[in-house]
Amino acid sequence: MDTEKRILSIAIDGPSGAGKSTLARAAAKELNLLYVDTGAIYRTVALHTLRRGVEPRDAAVEALLPEIGITMEYDPGGLQRMFLNGEDVTTLIRTQEVSMAASAVSAHPAVRAFLLEMQRDLAKRRSVIMDGRDIGTVVLPGADVKIFLTAGSEARARRRWLELQQRGTSKDFEQVLRETRERDANDMNRAAAPLRPAEDAIMLDTTEINFEESLERILAIIRGRTGL
Ligand code: C5P
Repeated sequence: MDTEKRILSIAIDGPSGAGKSTLARAAAKELNLLYVDTGAIYRTVALHTLRRGVEPRDAAVEALLPEIGITMEYDPGGLQRMFLNGEDVTTLIRTQEVSMAASAVSAHPAVRAFLLEMQRDLAKRRSVIMDGRDIGTVVLPGADVKIFLTAGSEARARRRWLELQQRGTSKDFEQVLRETRERDANDMNRAAAPLRPAEDAIMLDTTEINFEESLERILAIIRGRTGL
């Protein structure tokens, strides 16, 4: 009998602000799986693009890819640290400017292709909960569990606004709402791997439920499908 533990992969996709990263991180901790934040990888490409003074929508982004070396490390607590050519950029990639640029650079098929194997490799080595926009549809189409998290745009913008306030970078709510909608439109309407639920994804709308209840539902879905 095969006594080796099977490597499991759990895909969590959805628009920005639906609570993916907080929920995926908490679920990974509870289930002792590795949490992989794929948005951070796109953000790292975006940071390099901004630093080089290239417009993130411009096709010139493609020419920058050979100069981008991305590595990741995990702290014992599971925090994913991002390195851009050896420099720790974990905090630098969390600004709103980088969020918008990440949404733009991620529309380039060459950028997506550049990052695809890196994401798949991570899931080959360990059981993961991976969050993103196209994990269930493109990166890990054979994932054991696929969850698509959604919430209304106002609720998502409000969460993002509160998060920015807590970080001391307060911003006008209306602007955060506009940017949330702009990112949604970018992510859903792009030709390359647009944001959409996989056919076999379980939908979970968190507009009306709090963090604890959302986490409970996610854990129940994962446990029900994997026996974890
Ligand atoms: O998840 P996060 O907001 O950090 O992602 C930043 C941007 O990266 C998203 O707006 C999206 O455009 C892009 N992204 C993506 N595919 C992923 C993860 C993120 O296109 N798997």
